[in-house]
Amino acid sequence: MSKKYILALDQGTTSSRTVLFDDTGKIYGISQKETEQIYPKHGWVEQNAVEIYQSQLETMHNVMRDQNIDFKDVLSIGITNQRETTIVWNKKTGEPIYNAIVWQDVRTSKYCKELKADVNLNQYVHFNTGLVIDSYFSATKIKWILDNVPKAREMSKNDQLLFGTVDTWLLWNLTKGKVHATDYSNASRTMLYNIKDLEWDQQMLERLDIPASMLPQVRPSSFHFGDFSFDEHVIPINGIAGDQQAALFGQACFKKGETKNTYGTGCFLLMNTGKKPKFSSNGLLTTIAWGIDGKVQYALEGSVFIAGAAIQWLRDGLQLIDHAKDSEYFANQVDGDSSVYVVPAFAGLGAPYWDMDARGSIFGLTRDTGKNHLIKATLESLAYRSKDLILAMEEDSGVPLTSLKVDGGACANNYLMQFQADMLNTKVERAEIIESTALGAAYLAGIGVGLWKKEDILKNRKIEKEFHPAMEEEKRVKMYATWKKAVSRSMDWETD
Ligand code: ADP
Repeated sequence: MSKKYILALDQGTTSSRTVLFDDTGKIYGISQKETEQIYPKHGWVEQNAVEIYQSQLETMHNVMRDQNIDFKDVLSIGITNQRETTIVWNKKTGEPIYNAIVWQDVRTSKYCKELKADVNLNQYVHFNTGLVIDSYFSATKIKWILDNVPKAREMSKNDQLLFGTVDTWLLWNLTKGKVHATDYSNASRTMLYNIKDLEWDQQMLERLDIPASMLPQVRPSSFHFGDFSFDEHVIPINGIAGDQQAALFGQACFKKGETKNTYGTGCFLLMNTGKKPKFSSNGLLTTIAWGIDGKVQYALEGSVFIAGAAIQWLRDGLQLIDHAKDSEYFANQVDGDSSVYVVPAFAGLGAPYWDMDARGSIFGLTRDTGKNHLIKATLESLAYRSKDLILAMEEDSGVPLTSLKVDGGACANNYLMQFQADMLNTKVERAEIIESTALGAAYLAGIGVGLWKKEDILKNRKIEKEFHPAMEEEKRVKMYATWKKAVSRSMDWETD
């Protein structure tokens, strides 16, 4: 029998990628294409929705061609995507009525501020959608399109428009307009979905004047969503999850308390909190991790705005290093501990501090401070900020962290990973396949088509390297207390 494959479509913010997995869960081929970012005004970020679909389709065909695989050997397709990005299109023609408004776009922040003034609404949003009122999520972006694109409001009332996050848009196009659906994980990032009742939230829809008829059906993340046809082949689409939730699944964080951290430009931390939503008192988001086997799992989510971006600053801003990976070498050149702390609050501080007026700061400089100290302290700041979030998650969930599963570009840094293990006093596991996002989509699809079970995934998971804590308690406590002192002094800086 010929080998079988799963295609994972990974539509990210800056590129579309397709990762081809074989039936043992190994990567067989990858194809990637950058997508154009459009910045019409300060704070606005858009993409061409047609380009999103076409680039995704192109990478899918390219990987098949490059690896010389026939579609008849593809068992299933899984989709994972940049979350919250909003597309509205004409139901009849399939044409988007406006560019995709990307999650980073802040054009609705003034409107969000107005909504935030309503204390009851804040509470309602927190305890029903799991989110905080913010321009980041899809809801106010949809409203903006309806309010600002000529005839959009009227068309929406006449049931002529459809809304989708990127997964929905891809699915709709891949099925030639037959299926308008999303999964729980993506729905839970719209600020319109009631994560307790598992339905679109009537009160939010009314408040934002968004007709329910525009919204996709919400399905489990592992589900037969529809089919993609190519030549005489019909390939089922069996998995959909937003990128961070897909990564949590790809890291096999199936049990309550299991946590992953993705060290990219920012850090994204998600903790599986089990079958009931836990609402944070520390400014973390509550989100649906996935729906599978008739059950929904929830997660707490927190992010560090500036993580790998701080390493880019060392490279491009300060020009202290030529390549991000060189930071490991220079950090290792520092003899013993140093008293330098960098708080990379370039764009304020998120959870658990939530101080947008905090600014980047360096503390503890002495006459002998050199470039290596700055590099080391900047790397360490990623671990300190991640610890801040993990402590908040432990408090909110009541579940202690037992290990941290890591992925993302900066997890390749051994100095950083060892320091992370030391700071958390917990084992850090770096998986062999750090393409967790695509892997998660492939797993959801593979489970959906009956190729794998969760147990197979756990069995197959290979750790490339484990980092065990090796720092004495006294030192860890002292260093973390000093970090907290540094953070407190970087807060409330900007006064404009
Ligand atoms: P994203 O998906 O957000 O673009 P990636 O997962 O590709 O990010 O990771 C890239 C980020 O990680 C960059 O910000 C880069 O500075 C940082 N990075 C990459 N490799 C290393 C390394 N070895 N040590 C420290 N930082 C790194």
